[in-house]
Amino acid sequence: MPQRRRLVAGNWKMHTTVAEAVTLAEAIRASLPAQPGCDVVLLPPFVSLWAVGRHIAGDSRLQLGAQNVHWAPPGAHTGEIAAAMLVDLCRFVLIGHSERRQEFGETDRLVHRKLEAALTAGLLPIVAVGESQAQHDAGRARAVVAAQTRAAFGGCSEDEAARCAVAYEPRWAIGTGRAAAGSDAVSAADAIRRALRAMFGPVADTIRILYGGSVDQDNAPGLFAEPAIDGALVGGASLRPGPFCAIVAAAGSLG
Ligand code: PEP
Repeated sequence: MPQRRRLVAGNWKMHTTVAEAVTLAEAIRASLPAQPGCDVVLLPPFVSLWAVGRHIAGDSRLQLGAQNVHWAPPGAHTGEIAAAMLVDLCRFVLIGHSERRQEFGETDRLVHRKLEAALTAGLLPIVAVGESQAQHDAGRARAVVAAQTRAAFGGCSEDEAARCAVAYEPRWAIGTGRAAAGSDAVSAADAIRRALRAMFGPVADTIRILYGGSVDQDNAPGLFAEPAIDGALVGGASLRPGPFCAIVAAAGSLG
C-alpha cells in the first residue's frame, strides 16, 4: 500500500476582501508548524489568488488553489474563469463542492467536464463528493459517493487520476458543526476507494481521500487516526489561524 502524504486544504469560500485574505494568510504563516509534515493548501476567493500567492511565494509550507473553475476553454462566458487562466496563479482547484452542486445546479456531468478542463490545463484537482441528509438517512451514502466518483472520473487516464484528490463531504456535515462519525467517514472513503480501484487499478491507492464537514481542532486527530482518511477539507475553521494550524499539526503528526 503506497504511503500517501496527508493534505489539509482551507476553503475560504466567499469570505475575505483582498486585504483580509492577505492578513489571514500572514496569520496562518505565523502559526504554521515549521515543518507541517503534510501538504497545506489555501483556497481563497478568485480575486485574492494573486495577492495571497505573492504573499506566500517562497514559503514551501503553503500552496494555493482555486475554489472553482469553468469547464470551457477561454471564450465568451461572462464572469467565469477558465482553467488556463488559473495555472499562472495556483496549482490546485476544488471541483464539485456541494455548495456549487446545490446553489448553481452543478451536475455530475459538469463536474466531470470541469475535471477534464482542470487536468488538461495541468492543475491538481480536489474533487468533492458527498450525500445529502436524506440519502444518508436512507443508508445510501456509499452508493451515492461511489456513483459521483465514477461520474467525475469516468474517461480519465490513470496518470490523470493520480494527480487528483477526492474530498468526501457529506452535505449535512458542512457548516453545521455536526461532523460525520469516524466510522461513516471511513465507510464512505472505502466506497470511493473501491470505485477508484475499479477504474484505475493500483494507481487508485495513490489518490488521497480527504474528509470535509465541520472539521475542527478537536475532531481532527480522531479523523486522521483513521488510515483511510488522508487529510481534510476545512471550511469554517480555515478562517481562524489557530484552529486551522492545529488541524494541520494533527495531520502532520499522524502523517
Ligand atoms: C467546506 O466548505 O468544504 C466545509 C467542509 O465547510 P465546514 O468545515 O465549515 O463544514
